[in-house]
Amino acid sequence: MLEKYKEKRDFTKTGEPEGRLEESDSKENIFVIQEHHARNLHYDLRLEIEGVLKSWAVPKEPPEKPGIKRLAIQTEDHPLNYADFEGTIPQGQYGAGKVKIWDKGRFIPEKITEKEILFRLEGRRMKGDYVLVKTRFGKGSWLFFKKKE
Ligand code: MN
Repeated sequence: MLEKYKEKRDFTKTGEPEGRLEESDSKENIFVIQEHHARNLHYDLRLEIEGVLKSWAVPKEPPEKPGIKRLAIQTEDHPLNYADFEGTIPQGQYGAGKVKIWDKGRFIPEKITEKEILFRLEGRRMKGDYVLVKTRFGKGSWLFFKKKE
């Protein structure tokens, strides 16, 4: 599950964690959103599912309120310890630029299928029920929004 993650990176040059599958020491699942100042600023949404962080790049600020729909492009799975990563990926490396944690907290999955993920987030900014749903426009293209209360 982490092959793509490893292929893209040279761990002698980047300070990002090396991909290793590991058991989480907690019964609670986590999410993280990293603000990533790469060529284009975007927000990387990562959800702990089956021992990895399933990941989506969100080009605009994540929806803190209902009524905002964001495009989310699925990217490669990341290792669980990536949730703690902050720093600068050096020039010339994949994803070069500054990474900062924008929000982090508990991820409570409610329903996970190939096409749809329903879940609850308990973070500092992201709080409530959320939906990720696959669109018909291109592989890896999802919509991400907060459900009405
Ligand atoms: Mn990114």
